[in-house]
Amino acid sequence: DAGAVLRRQRERESSARTYARSFPIVPVRAHGMTVEGADGRRYLDCLAGAGTLALGHNHPVVTEAVRRTVDGGAPLHVLDLATPQKDEFTDALFASLPPAFADRARIHFCGPAGTDAVEAALKLMRTATGRHGLLAFTGAYHGMTAGALAVSGRAGAVRSPAPGAGAGVTRLPYPYSYRCPFGVGGERGAALSAAYAERLLDDPDGGVEPPAAMIVEAVQGEGGVVPAPDGWLREMRRITAERGIPLVVDEVQTGVGRTGAFWAVEHSGIVPDAMVVSKAVGGSLPLAAVVYREEYDVWPPGAHTGTFRGNTLAMAAGAATLRFVAREGLARRAAEVGARMTARLEALAAEVPAVGDVRGRGLMIGVELVDPAGEPDACGALPAAPHTAARVRAACLERGLIVELGGRHGATVRLLPPLVITDAEAGAVLDRLADAVAEAAG
Ligand code: PMP
Repeated sequence: DAGAVLRRQRERESSARTYARSFPIVPVRAHGMTVEGADGRRYLDCLAGAGTLALGHNHPVVTEAVRRTVDGGAPLHVLDLATPQKDEFTDALFASLPPAFADRARIHFCGPAGTDAVEAALKLMRTATGRHGLLAFTGAYHGMTAGALAVSGRAGAVRSPAPGAGAGVTRLPYPYSYRCPFGVGGERGAALSAAYAERLLDDPDGGVEPPAAMIVEAVQGEGGVVPAPDGWLREMRRITAERGIPLVVDEVQTGVGRTGAFWAVEHSGIVPDAMVVSKAVGGSLPLAAVVYREEYDVWPPGAHTGTFRGNTLAMAAGAATLRFVAREGLARRAAEVGARMTARLEALAAEVPAVGDVRGRGLMIGVELVDPAGEPDACGALPAAPHTAARVRAACLERGLIVELGGRHGATVRLLPPLVITDAEAGAVLDRLADAVAEAAG
């Protein structure tokens, strides 16, 4: 009885429940991008495990890899011992990386969440450089453990960081093209963000603690699906390289084809010093790792341990997923379908004043809801409309579409459909979303 399950969950679980609050459904079956609730209703899933399900729910290559592993009697948990599954996963992962990075890469498995790998990356760079400071960005999201929180910029996330965890973190303005930090959008705004970062780092009185690393998302996800211009990322690479600051790119949400390239760093062509990977790399099972250039392989044995550094099923599911995404060219498909979806959403924005901005890359798309009656800011952005966005989310659910919100003030509808979304499903998502917007904001 779905009602009883929901009631018990409400009674027993913490008041911090999030998704369960917005989506009071009890999923019992799922396939591809369709989730079926206990009441028999079906939903198109554009949350997809917060971007985890590159191949959608229960893709046969994933379920078969899991079944084969279980049926073969493989030990499911062996700490960080060598296993054939881990070997296959590492092969598939390294084969997917930009060659200039993969050639001299090492991997440290962390576990099991993205935030664990962020912690490892930051600690590794602190060990390697002997420095403590960190450069991070406004609007960033890197996870919920103390170090990851300290480099996150989102108000909801950083409200209660561990005391002292944020010491030495310098926040730089992310080049948000709609709510522009310098009152100018586009390339010009991005150039100002880069110039500001460079001048601040070179100012002897700037108060910046010598940085052990810069951590950045190529497209901010939780921050509201904000893509950084490629030229700006290349500037961040130049600025950090010239000053001997390791550049850590958080690909937890952007990786595995999501943005229309296998890794988001490929769009700009930058070679990071470290990359944080999780979510889709585990093929829907928990897996996280930091991949870094070999000169940063400085930890002595045991310097960074953890019980769940690798789970055999996650390695098998992850390897199968990475190989399938590569073999089927799903990154290219994400670029194509994403471009068509974005074009239709831009047409919607032109018609509906409450849709202030449409942006994204590949199948990581954001639709920002605004108050058309409000005062535009210096770069023309209207005030964010979180209540409208929440109404859109609810109206979507009523129409059988799961979408989550994010971004400044929670006013951005985020679409993260599986990369295997069909053209018909993409059309249905857009029809339902347009209908929901018309009801909630028309
Ligand atoms: N980095 C980014 C870019 C993310 O989007 C997330 C999760 N949304 C994390 C890190 C943290 O991952 P996890 O929730 O698995 O700890």
